[in-house]
Amino acid sequence: MPHLLVIGGSDAGISAALRAREVNPAFEVTVVVADRYPNYSICGLPFWLAGQVSDWRDLAHRTAGELEGQGIRLLLEHTAQAIDPAGGTVAVIDGNGRSHHMAYDRLVIGTGAVPVRPRIEGLDQPGVFFLRTMADGFALERYLTAHVPASASVIGAGYIGLEMADALAHRGIEVTVVEYLPSMLGTLDPSLGRVVSQELERNGVTVRTGVAVEAITRREQRLIVAGSEGLRLETDVVLVAAGVRPEAGLAAAAGVQTGQKGAIVVNQAMETNVSDVYAAGDCVETYHHLLGRNVYLPLGSTAYKLGRVVGENAVGGEARYAGTLGTQVVKVFDLVAARTGLRDGEASAAGLNPRTVQTETWDHKVYYPGAHTLYLRITGDRVTGQLLGAQIVGHRTAEVSKRVDVVAAALFNRMAVEALNDVDLSYTPPLSSPWDAVQMAAQAWSRSA
Ligand SMILES: Cc1cc2nc3c(=O)[nH]c(=O)nc-3n(C[C@H](O)[C@H](O)[C@H](O)COP(=O)(O)OP(=O)(O)OC[C@H]3O[C@@H](n4cnc5c(N)ncnc54)[C@H](O)[C@@H]3O)c2cc1C
Repeated sequence: MPHLLVIGGSDAGISAALRAREVNPAFEVTVVVADRYPNYSICGLPFWLAGQVSDWRDLAHRTAGELEGQGIRLLLEHTAQAIDPAGGTVAVIDGNGRSHHMAYDRLVIGTGAVPVRPRIEGLDQPGVFFLRTMADGFALERYLTAHVPASASVIGAGYIGLEMADALAHRGIEVTVVEYLPSMLGTLDPSLGRVVSQELERNGVTVRTGVAVEAITRREQRLIVAGSEGLRLETDVVLVAAGVRPEAGLAAAAGVQTGQKGAIVVNQAMETNVSDVYAAGDCVETYHHLLGRNVYLPLGSTAYKLGRVVGENAVGGEARYAGTLGTQVVKVFDLVAARTGLRDGEASAAGLNPRTVQTETWDHKVYYPGAHTLYLRITGDRVTGQLLGAQIVGHRTAEVSKRVDVVAAALFNRMAVEALNDVDLSYTPPLSSPWDAVQMAAQAWSRSA
């Protein structure tokens, strides 16, 4: 029986294994996972740490038993140490320190990403945390329970930093977020980043932007976070959320080509440059649907899609990954912020001729209770009129994710901004307007020409 070996048991690896079993049961499928938590939703960790999800076990997309029931052989606490493409084997060490070689006919690398360690002194001391794995989550939870900190500092205002600011505040902790960039949530333009800042401040979170943290030191029971612009915070716990980098060392050592930020280079079939070796998820470069080239854009939603393609192809299929748009969404207290496609600067850098127009409108008919302002930024090409991207920020009841997904679907089909007006979107006063906010934003974009 031909053997598909998958390294990594998270979003990409498990999606690959499930798809492989589905399309070609002739393959034996083994997944080696470094930890004991295959197919867990690490995206759910902030909500468990906030106390909104009571049992961490509920974060499992599927149990190990359910995966095995699909015919997948799971080897937990098994770490791949080296790939030998010439021999078609992977050296693996188990939790008891025993090593052995596993033969493969096809190999999928789904080793994911690890947190970036910024150049800050004192990252390796008690009370300083990163958040990536279930084990990271357990360590932070233990510390929060044992020390009951009064204050916390979050370094980095990307989506993980902001979800964790929300989670820590939810536990009654006084939170400061320190961000190097001039505004919160660097995936959005500054005008919308400011809306996010206001929401954090409205909920008692202190926001420091344009500040570089340089050192974390300990003074008795407390930590001192010091940096530029006179930053000096006395705090009880620090979470570092400064982005991720691909975990691609294993692949690179085996001669697999790596590229942007060290991510594995794959084509749209998820093949690497080494025969019979495929890769998917946060460890790979991702083909961008609009740019027509690879970028590094690690997301769980993307890892699932890449995993599905790689699982199919590794067992003989001919699937192609259609490309990312970088569609993403985050909830921060009562606000939801989302984006898809390209921002103005990204489009210009790609040689396009973008124009971005911001509109502010009610998220539903204002006569129905609970209407809030919805902020939309539409980016289109001023020459061709093609839709290039959107950023949307609004109240958590404002269907922000639905609206950004409408734009994502339009982008996927390479529609013009103006064509959004032709789409038959739904309407009822408690949820929208006869012209949906997305269409009003498209009309404002066209008027501004
Ligand atoms: C707190 C948090 C919140 C997030 N929220 C969102 C969200 O809301 N939306 C979204 O789209 N994305 C979100 N993400 C990102 C998302 O979780 C990742 O994009 C996704 O997990 C990537 O999946 P992956 O399988 O590529 O890699 P990973 O999840 O990094 O998994 C890698 C796997 O490989 C294993 N592994 C690594 N090296 C080896 C080895 N040598 N041998 C054996 N096994 C190995 C690991 O044990 C793990 O099983 C979030 C991430 C975090 C940390």
